Amino acid sequence: MAQRTLFLLPGDGIGPETMGEVRKIIDYMNAEQDAGFVTDEGLVGGSAYDAHGASISDADMAKATDADAVLFGAVGGPQWDAVPYDVRPEAGLLRLRKDLELFANLRPAICYPALAQASSLKPELVEGLDILIVRELTGGVYFGEPKTITDLGNGQKRAIDTQVYDTYEIERIAAVAFELARTRGNTVCSMEKRNVMKSGVLWNQVVTETHKAQYSDVKLEHMLADAGGMQLVRAPKQFDVIVTDNLFGDMLSDVAAMLTGSLGMLPSASLGAPDPKTGKRKAMYEPVHGSAPDIAGKGIANPIAMIASFAMCLRYSFNMIEEANNLEKAIANVLDKGIRTADIMADGATRVGTTQMGDAILAEF
Ligand code: ATP
Ligand code: MG
Repeated sequence: MAQRTLFLLPGDGIGPETMGEVRKIIDYMNAEQDAGFVTDEGLVGGSAYDAHGASISDADMAKATDADAVLFGAVGGPQWDAVPYDVRPEAGLLRLRKDLELFANLRPAICYPALAQASSLKPELVEGLDILIVRELTGGVYFGEPKTITDLGNGQKRAIDTQVYDTYEIERIAAVAFELARTRGNTVCSMEKRNVMKSGVLWNQVVTETHKAQYSDVKLEHMLADAGGMQLVRAPKQFDVIVTDNLFGDMLSDVAAMLTGSLGMLPSASLGAPDPKTGKRKAMYEPVHGSAPDIAGKGIANPIAMIASFAMCLRYSFNMIEEANNLEKAIANVLDKGIRTADIMADGATRVGTTQMGDAILAEF
């Protein structure tokens, strides 16, 4: 039997509650489907700081590096607002992304039919929406040097951020986007601002060349990122896969998220480069939402984003496509039956807590 190693980092706030529902699914798949998952668990964020003064220990980093995939809950909360900057809860998440070189951030925006009404747009615009935003995660203006604030001495200060992209960084994210497009609608829209940014010129050029060299079967379009943002809100269903840089991806994926209805529903995956020997990618899966301290410990958090993140893990780390589809179908079925956590509650629906929602999804799986 294949052995599949998972490293679980539940984290803080509602993280442990939502991860508990994924653990049930893992146990079920091991017992009923011989899935062969081997799990280990570590601490990250505030809970790691409380235990050993760091936002993630070196030992847990090593386990995250060795595992086939990492499942991440959420980090942070008001009780850690005053901890030193270097060991703040979010530092653990950033270290994971950086040390594992998770350069490709995949954020699907799927609108479950049963929730179309919850969208901030007209339901007919988003019903059936299925977009995948591929955001470059380890480069661009968030990391480029120089990055400084200088006192100019005349009562003025100067802030500098630098957008840097090398060819290889654009090539590898473009390749991820094209490969994913082949498994979906076979269309990629690349977004940058080549009209005002040199990095946009290079981005456009490298995406075009990568397409021509290896992925000419996929339909490729280019849009300026501002126009893309407008189109995303005006006619979101025109998009299949969107590939863009770190900054634009941050904003556009939040816009896409709001099209779908609820934060408690949205999964994400962060992938690294394939190992040249084994072809396996480092990967971490996490909900888009945070630790939701306002509802932590109450048993009312929506576990769907965490469960949908595990479905992405099945698909991208283990190529368990059928199981991933079944799990996503189970989520849709439960929503169709009108079973809802508080955050997605609607008239006439049945209100349930975290564990009941997890149980309902498992029963449909
Ligand atoms: P972060 O800085 O970690 O992103 P945040 O405060 O920006 O945190 P969240 O922690 O995601 O954002 O919470 C935003 C709001 O959404 C809160 O009111 C929270 O209760 C709610 N929320 C987030 N996730 C869920 C969930 N899974 N189920 C129910 N409500 C949620
Ligand atoms: Mg936030």
